[in-house]
Amino acid sequence: MVDRLNIAAIFAHPDDLTFLAAGSVARWASEGHKIYSICCTNGEVGTLRRDITKKDVAKKREEELDAANKILGIKKNYMLGYPDAGFIKGEELRKNLVYHVRKLKIDRIITLDPWVKYEVHPDHVIVGRMAAEAGAFSTFPLLYEDQLKNGLEPYNCSEVWFMGLLGHAPNAIVDISQVMEKKVQAALQFESTFEIIKNIFGIQVDLNNITDLNKVKIEKNLKRLFQSIGTAIGKKYGVGIAEAFYVQKTEPGHFDNFQEILSEILGNSLAPPKIYRRD
Ligand SMILES: [Zn+2]
Repeated sequence: MVDRLNIAAIFAHPDDLTFLAAGSVARWASEGHKIYSICCTNGEVGTLRRDITKKDVAKKREEELDAANKILGIKKNYMLGYPDAGFIKGEELRKNLVYHVRKLKIDRIITLDPWVKYEVHPDHVIVGRMAAEAGAFSTFPLLYEDQLKNGLEPYNCSEVWFMGLLGHAPNAIVDISQVMEKKVQAALQFESTFEIIKNIFGIQVDLNNITDLNKVKIEKNLKRLFQSIGTAIGKKYGVGIAEAFYVQKTEPGHFDNFQEILSEILGNSLAPPKIYRRD
């Protein structure tokens, strides 16, 4: 029997997880793992409109996230409320994330890769980095020892999965063919996002006035985009539609990657990725 894991998706903005790794999360939820999402900012500057306040944007995007999470089978969402596109204080965020890892007994973190090339968004970098550190540091009893009361204990989170664009060749491929529709439906909840990334999607519709016909167009474009990316990854690794990750096992205070990095220094070829095929 597969171990049931507590998994935390830790990301910067409400739409990050769904667009980068919704398929894998939906698959893990359907396999019985307990999934939490931790959204570090409210995404309040994520609009190009002038006729809307930050408060309105934050409220709308949180509602979109809740709707998407429901489709993906995410158990509970935590909004941490750090400033969007501001300067999040790293240690403050790390302490907060360590607290959540300990409280929720998180075995696997899935997050943004802070080491990806040309990442311009500071929230993506700091959130990915602090989530990775929380994964490796929550086990130290003398770190943030003020948290260790009322039964809260250090916790050994065993792995960190980096999602989306990666700074390293992937070492885990998850077949999401069976949950592709959930990924599309979850992404469709993020109406605010379409305005920002309409050039990527090729959506030529008035997003201030989303009619039923426009919704059909958006859905078609989203499907095409996700399918082309997912199929390209899947084809390379001999599965259907897939998402790719770089996974690091944790040890106290570091990742368990000495052998792998040494092997790369010596110019050896990379080990093939682990393929999570459909059951
Ligand atoms: Zn983001």
